[in-house]
Amino acid sequence: MVLDRTRITPGIAVGDDRFHARWTTDSDDPFEALTAEIAVFALTAVTGHAAVLLHKCEASRCMLFFTRLDARQHWCSDVCGNRARLARSAKTNRESSTAQST
Ligand SMILES: [Zn+2]
Repeated sequence: MVLDRTRITPGIAVGDDRFHARWTTDSDDPFEALTAEIAVFALTAVTGHAAVLLHKCEASRCMLFFTRLDARQHWCSDVCGNRARLARSAKTNRESSTAQST
């Protein structure tokens, strides 16, 4: 794992009138340094203060996570939302036709 091989030091940079996280690495390999920085940002995204906003898409066959900015948002995209609504509608129609036939 790149984080096992590369030492990463956190820092703070100031720019655009606000603070930014800055990470420096001890690697001479630019690809490994970039990969390590991306890994740190990914870890921060899933474990940091904004992690409470991260939710798994509720669509049955979707594996994606998304940032929930609205409590009514349940899916990662309109495509997943439309599939879920269609599946729910089809299930309701099946149950309705089954109840009528009995
Ligand atoms: Zn989805």
